[in-house]
Amino acid sequence: MCSREGRFRPGPAFFTRHPELEDCTRRCIVCKCEIEAERVEAIAATRLCAKHGREIEQYGGEFTLTAAQERTSKQGSLKLNYGGISTALSRNNEALGKLLDEYERQQYSNE
Ligand SMILES: [Zn+2]
Repeated sequence: MCSREGRFRPGPAFFTRHPELEDCTRRCIVCKCEIEAERVEAIAATRLCAKHGREIEQYGGEFTLTAAQERTSKQGSLKLNYGGISTALSRNNEALGKLLDEYERQQYSNE
């Protein structure tokens, strides 16, 4: 048996990265383009690239911010004692749907 063949020598393919298996690269859910790193840094929860992030604005934005005022005073009390305002960021699925529809329409019209 040849001793050279007995040794495992990984070829170039062994070192090939598989972007589809890596979760660290975020892709736009509309066009599947890579989302700009600066954008991910600015909006950690974004699933849209800069282009579609702008386009979704016309449908109300990627996220909807719901603010709820916390009332700390007792119910019926005349003294209104408002506490902090709690905000919750939720994904605007309706807008995302519209954006995807719009994107698909554009794809067909280009053909
Ligand atoms: Zn996009």
